[in-house]
Amino acid sequence: MGAKVTIVGAGVGGLAAAARLAHDGYDVEVLERLPECGGRNHLLEVSGFKFDMGPSFVLMPDFFEEVFSYCGQSLKDYLDLRPIDPSYKIFFPDGDIFTVYRNSEHTKEEMERIEKGSAKGFDAFIRETSRIYGMIRPLLYKSVTYSSLFNPYYWGLVGRIHAFQSYWQLARKYFKSEKLCYAFTFEAMFMGVSPYQAPAFYSIISYTDHAQKIFHPMGGMYKIPLALEKLALKFGARIFYNCPVEKISKPGRKILVKHAKGVSEADYAVVNADYAYSQADLLKRRIPKYKYSCSTYLVYLGLKDKLKNLAHHNLFFSTDLDRNLRQIFDEKTVPQDPSFYAHIPTVTDPSLAPDGKEILYLLVPVPNLLNAKDSFCRHEEAINKLVFEKINKVCPCRLEDIVETRNCFYPEDFVSRYNVKYGATFGLAHNLAQSAFFRPANTDPRIKNLYYAGASTQPGGGLPVVIASSRIVADLINGKKAL
Ligand SMILES: Cc1cc2nc3c(=O)[nH]c(=O)nc-3n(C[C@H](O)[C@H](O)[C@H](O)COP(=O)(O)OP(=O)(O)OC[C@H]3O[C@@H](n4cnc5c(N)ncnc54)[C@H](O)[C@@H]3O)c2cc1C
Repeated sequence: MGAKVTIVGAGVGGLAAAARLAHDGYDVEVLERLPECGGRNHLLEVSGFKFDMGPSFVLMPDFFEEVFSYCGQSLKDYLDLRPIDPSYKIFFPDGDIFTVYRNSEHTKEEMERIEKGSAKGFDAFIRETSRIYGMIRPLLYKSVTYSSLFNPYYWGLVGRIHAFQSYWQLARKYFKSEKLCYAFTFEAMFMGVSPYQAPAFYSIISYTDHAQKIFHPMGGMYKIPLALEKLALKFGARIFYNCPVEKISKPGRKILVKHAKGVSEADYAVVNADYAYSQADLLKRRIPKYKYSCSTYLVYLGLKDKLKNLAHHNLFFSTDLDRNLRQIFDEKTVPQDPSFYAHIPTVTDPSLAPDGKEILYLLVPVPNLLNAKDSFCRHEEAINKLVFEKINKVCPCRLEDIVETRNCFYPEDFVSRYNVKYGATFGLAHNLAQSAFFRPANTDPRIKNLYYAGASTQPGGGLPVVIASSRIVADLINGKKAL
């Protein structure tokens, strides 16, 4: 048996690290406080409806393929990823609808309707973001530290990837209308940050969703952690559920991981639990004044009937988007007229609901709990009313009459269920001061052989990137530089 690796957390990052290291011959154990795997990529089953509770977009499928090929396996034997079409629909407050298709020529026709000449802007935007993606992609498999700042290679890169420009400013160069600028920057919200604050290089998300397209795993998003769990178990990893870790220390040669069932002595430890939480609660350290991503209010509805006019992914923009973003990120008050996202996976995958029925998952970005100036519950009823009204207008239906089951998930639930600090749904914010060199590294600065894989460490949040963090950690443990 190889050296012992203890992994704290069976989220996507922890499971991917477990699979790689078990494949590489290590003696791997995973300790997870919940009764099942997946972390934020979780499943809720109610009366035959299967709700994915967290992620819903699969972008960058090659990052998913990489972890399986690392282990000598083929993703196709574990996951049935299907491209979806249309990719998504955006509903503007004035009634205009922008549909993004798999075929960009069709998307461009839609854009021309909104802004004459924007099809050319689209081509130029994709060229520029493709160029940025080409430079960023290899970095997503590297752990960089402050010392990397002395490497002249990175100095030139900073300018070439527009590090000091915002995502919004980049979009503004290619599109005149506010509608299209928002349509090409809303993805920032899926990293929990405002497009005004996210650096321009995060536009690689817009690039991937337009150029590489969007995928859905048949059977639901929960199939992703299940596939990684299967992969890890295949190579002999041992996974212990209902096993919360309480403390990590290194008094001698071994790392001691104290948990509900005893103490594990490990040669290496990998923390997948939220980074800020693990620093404060497991390592008992004072944490710096990090900036956190926004939180989210989630509603999972099981519907008796099918919905009309909606796609698999739908975005409803606020009447005043600028104010909406300020309220969430600057003023930290609950927005009265929020933008929201409606996920209807049964459009692609009817197996997720009983025959003839529909799943509607609503995601409303709201402030995180750090110094929150407002209590969410005071606004819940009004937000639900507004969201239902907006959906009823486009469907058309009376959503209230067809709801069969209703479950909600609040900012506080991210803390109590997943130990995510301040209920920041997407972990540490993705602003410039917390990106690349400045994002917590995958290696602990004080404890040798202690590593981090997950959304709040390098390279960042989102499933593909979290999977990349597990590659960085495996390479570091194996003594390899990086890809
Ligand atoms: C609502 C929502 C929508 C999203 N949408 C998308 C999307 O469309 N596409 C996309 O790519 N990404 C999306 N994301 C982001 C993506 O889900 C996350 O980046 C990713 O799942 C984080 O994985 P992780 O492994 O870093 O952390 P987690 O999923 O948080 O896993 C950490 C694990 O550690 C466990 N843990 C915590 N404390 C302890 C302890 N003391 N002892 C033992 N175990 C512990 C937790 O229970 C958890 O299982 C979304 C996230 C959310 C919540």
